[in-house]
Amino acid sequence: MKQNLNWLQIYRLKGLKTSRLFVLIIVAVLLSSCTKEASLVKREAFLMNTVLTVSIDGDEEVLDKVFERLEEIDRLYNRKNESSEIYLINNHKLLRPSKEVYDLIDRSFQYAKVTDGAFNPAIGPLVDLWGIDGTGRELSSIPSADEIKKTIPLCDYNNVSIKDREVNLPEEMSIDLGAIVKGYATDEIVKILRDDGIKSAIIDLGGNIFAYGEKAGGNNWRIGVADPFIENRESLLVLEGKDFSLVTSGNYERYIIYKGKKYHHISDTGTGMPAENELASVSIISAKSELCDMLSTTLFVNGIEKGVETIKNFDAGVIFVTKDKRILASSNIYNMINLDSIKEGFILEKIDD
Ligand code: AMP
Ligand code: MG
Repeated sequence: MKQNLNWLQIYRLKGLKTSRLFVLIIVAVLLSSCTKEASLVKREAFLMNTVLTVSIDGDEEVLDKVFERLEEIDRLYNRKNESSEIYLINNHKLLRPSKEVYDLIDRSFQYAKVTDGAFNPAIGPLVDLWGIDGTGRELSSIPSADEIKKTIPLCDYNNVSIKDREVNLPEEMSIDLGAIVKGYATDEIVKILRDDGIKSAIIDLGGNIFAYGEKAGGNNWRIGVADPFIENRESLLVLEGKDFSLVTSGNYERYIIYKGKKYHHISDTGTGMPAENELASVSIISAKSELCDMLSTTLFVNGIEKGVETIKNFDAGVIFVTKDKRILASSNIYNMINLDSIKEGFILEKIDD
């Protein structure tokens, strides 16, 4: 309102008649509505222990399909849900899961092999031991060294047999697909959108992003990478591009506090402790969200040196943010970074190939 008055005043100062001014305003409004992006239809739900938001250039029926699928994925994979296939497998009540669940478990254990256990879907007992489920809960105790030592062998993914459509878990072991299922779900939504001919959409499954297609008018999407030092997810830099997924793993997402120290939710099953290295967050960019999700967790555990070697085996780019506020980006996605968007106090470097 204040701004409009200022415009009126400016035109009056220039001696423009009010009637001509209104014609100008109407023309301006018409022009802007021609170039305006088509507004996206948005829906939100709380599933997979997080907020899921999908916005599409399409109609409500497509969103109905999208959210039915998201509910189904939550029903199948949420290990806290007593009727989910993962819960039933973990409780030795199911040997032969559906093909869909078997395939994701199978892929997850293959990822464990190729990442040498940095990504470990057999991490269930350790996740339960630590119980890191919230943000900033203050605890009066953490697991003892002895408890951790006893739990590490229960996370040995080599002891799980996955073959002939059967998943055989030894006693006391359990599967946790929390580090991959949102990425998988994102790719499943992308399939629905492609089948329905949707041209433009943003999928945000609790920070697991897919910038689908292109923005109306053929423009790039602008997607922020969160500042890991600030709780409100303010952006640290902006990525510009079309049809890409961006997934971040960070030490700020879920944690507990014990004696003033933060313990976050991504663990190294070699030590049984939350992964500790120079990193505050890792973001992965690729065409497949499942790959992004798996790699963001893996590289967060690996740290920079090993992480750079690991990612060479995959078609993906990385942005590391270190605890001392350096941003290291791989050369294959460096051009997507809007250099003007980098937050003050951070230094951007390109990783040598
Ligand atoms: P993300 O936020 O994708 O990095 O996934 C973190 C979640 O995956 C945690 O809350 C755990 O349930 C599980 N998780 C933690 N550490 C690992 C790991 N090293 N490998 C696989 N899953 C993990
Ligand atoms: Mg992940």
